[in-house]
Amino acid sequence: VEASLKEIERVDGQVKAFLKVDHEGARAVAKHIDQNRSAKRGLLHALPMALKDNICTDGLTTTCGSKLLANYTPVFDATVTKQLRTHGSILMGKLNMDEFAMGSSNENSGFFPVHNPWDLERVPGGSSGGPVAAVAAGEVFFSLGSDTGGSIRQPASFCGVVGLKPTYGRVSRYGLVAFASSLDQIGPITKNVEDAAYVMQAISGYDPMDATSIPQDVPDYLSALTGDIKGLKVGVPKEMMGEGIDPGVRAQIQKALTQLEKMGAIVEEVSLPHAEYAVATYYLIAPAEASSNLARYDGVRYGMRQEGKNLLDLYLETRSQGFGDEVKRRIMLGTYALSSGYYDAYYLKAQKARTLISQDFEKIFAKYDVVVGPTTPNTAFKFGEKTDDPLTMYLNDICTIPANLAGLPAISVPCGLADGLPVGLQVFGKAFDEATLLRVAHAFE
Ligand code: GLN
Repeated sequence: VEASLKEIERVDGQVKAFLKVDHEGARAVAKHIDQNRSAKRGLLHALPMALKDNICTDGLTTTCGSKLLANYTPVFDATVTKQLRTHGSILMGKLNMDEFAMGSSNENSGFFPVHNPWDLERVPGGSSGGPVAAVAAGEVFFSLGSDTGGSIRQPASFCGVVGLKPTYGRVSRYGLVAFASSLDQIGPITKNVEDAAYVMQAISGYDPMDATSIPQDVPDYLSALTGDIKGLKVGVPKEMMGEGIDPGVRAQIQKALTQLEKMGAIVEEVSLPHAEYAVATYYLIAPAEASSNLARYDGVRYGMRQEGKNLLDLYLETRSQGFGDEVKRRIMLGTYALSSGYYDAYYLKAQKARTLISQDFEKIFAKYDVVVGPTTPNTAFKFGEKTDDPLTMYLNDICTIPANLAGLPAISVPCGLADGLPVGLQVFGKAFDEATLLRVAHAFE
């Protein structure tokens, strides 16, 4: 804990991954562990970690990167927080993020942006920029992020660490502040794949507190790390290797595919014919669900309150001053898409496209064990490069969004550099088959 605090002190003034460092809390837990050395040890015994600030922590602020929740302190732990504590890890604090997890660069944080530890003039990706930067910079051993459209994998790729989005329903969402409930999943961010297996083991499993949690046995993820991928069938969607993918990124992915082949995998081209609709589909479904989820921030029940002449005025003032531009944009888009008369044309249509995208994957997984491609079309970009045009920012999620729409697990693992910046290899798996993803990523890394 002292080493972690020292490292935070040394680098976080520049990286800005932390919104809150809990010196006292972390030291108290460390002392307790120290005084009970004979106690049974958990899987993550005495490991310093920190959590994305949309994961509830009893007694510690959970701001979601928003001014609106700047003073919100939960009175309960999220299920994952509880699980990590039970397994012995030590919470060092809460990590910066795009406001309400909406963004791909951390420039939407309501407080200040996170900087990429590889190059401080570049973004760390988003929305889990804080969790990823904290791990990449060595401030903590691991962290948890949330992934609605790529928010674990895209920043992991930008900062050269491992990020895993589990199958929808594998990890409890209880105590995760909701963004788009049919897409959100919590997952580990770690330095390497073995660590990801440990953290997955600790947080996976059925939770009666989350209605979308699936009662399915959790395999032993560590024993999946055999190093053997002989005969594994790998599909590479041609849509993820063509136009729009930077040549530098594509070259690293090609190299990775050759390496997988050398290790005995059978690599073949496949097609996701509806992938081209994924971004449009996501940017209807996610804002629609967000507009509904964020209705609860009315100045009465949670967080900030701006007084007004009457109740409507109080709502208006609180929401106008509390939310940032991107959050407002999504609420407007989502409210529009759900309004009467438009529902069939937008939300319902998007749900149909979502089914087609799921079916594309089903067809591939009937023949292949995993699907492999890049995590992002480019490496980390500079601050301000994409802020004027939300659409180019949204396109950064083109390779990650399909997994969320289909509910499938996907991992990003570092695979070399392009122009000195990390590239991520993305591996998608069948539902609830995180073990195979971990096996492939581990054999590759
Ligand atoms: N960048 C995407 C968005 O802005 C994904 C965010 C996420 O996964 N939380 O919605």
